[in-house]
Amino acid sequence: APVVSVRGLRHSYGRGPDAVTALGPLSLEIPAGEFLVLVGPSGCGKSTLLRLIAGFEHAAEGAVEVFGERPEPGGRAGIVFQQPRLFPWRTVGDNIGLALAYAGVPRSERPERVAGLLDRVGLAGTAGRRVWQISGGQQQRVAIARALAGGKRLLLLDEPFAALDALTRERLQEDLRTMSAETGTTAVFVTHSVDEAVFLGSRAIVLTNRPGTVALDLPIGLPRT
Ligand code: ADP
Ligand code: ADP
Repeated sequence: APVVSVRGLRHSYGRGPDAVTALGPLSLEIPAGEFLVLVGPSGCGKSTLLRLIAGFEHAAEGAVEVFGERPEPGGRAGIVFQQPRLFPWRTVGDNIGLALAYAGVPRSERPERVAGLLDRVGLAGTAGRRVWQISGGQQQRVAIARALAGGKRLLLLDEPFAALDALTRERLQEDLRTMSAETGTTAVFVTHSVDEAVFLGSRAIVLTNRPGTVALDLPIGLPRT
């Protein structure tokens, strides 16, 4: 079964004459282990699609299923935004530990789980550091670790590296590609950058904001499944 299934999806904001069509009609399936990138001009609905998959919004028309269920916030997808959105004066370990607590992981198991997650994002040994003391790139690594906390098998990323300098961005791209391939994590990654899309993606969906045009669905790179 696909990890994400989108059928006849249309979404708009507002009602009646003021309604803004944000997305659709769109149908797609994302199989386990795929690294799907969403590209397209500003306003074409990339963030909207991510929010629908995350369960922050529910579809105006059509259906979205994640692991066969209607998505809900705090459900089976982990999400990473352009800004890390961590608690800056708390430790790296606390920030991830909170997500583990939310996922129902018992307190006694959390330190080991935190260490394992930090290892996966290349930050082994940093659990005791305060978030404000680490760099922006490291903070975004913590945000990825937090999104994976609780055994999340689906990662949603909304331009997560757009605010980073070029060198840091390249390192994070490389490490995310390795980590997701090694662990078989399914990913949906929004980006404005064609370079980034081609480097990371196993498939790309190009959305448009012209009424009546359909989304382009392109296999890129090697399929991972
Ligand atoms: P993208 O991420 O591709 O830039 P968005 O998903 O943010 O696109 O937006 C798609 C369309 O929906 C745009 O026309 C945008 O103005 C509109 N939109 C997005 N969020 C809202 C909102 N909360 N209320 C009203 N319109 C919105
Ligand atoms: P709530 O508990 O928020 O009232 P409901 O389960 O009653 O939610 O559904 C609210 C709306 O969402 C209904 O119109 C329903 O058809 C629609 N809906 C249900 N399942 C899905 C799904 N998987 N994807 C998108 N929309 C759905």
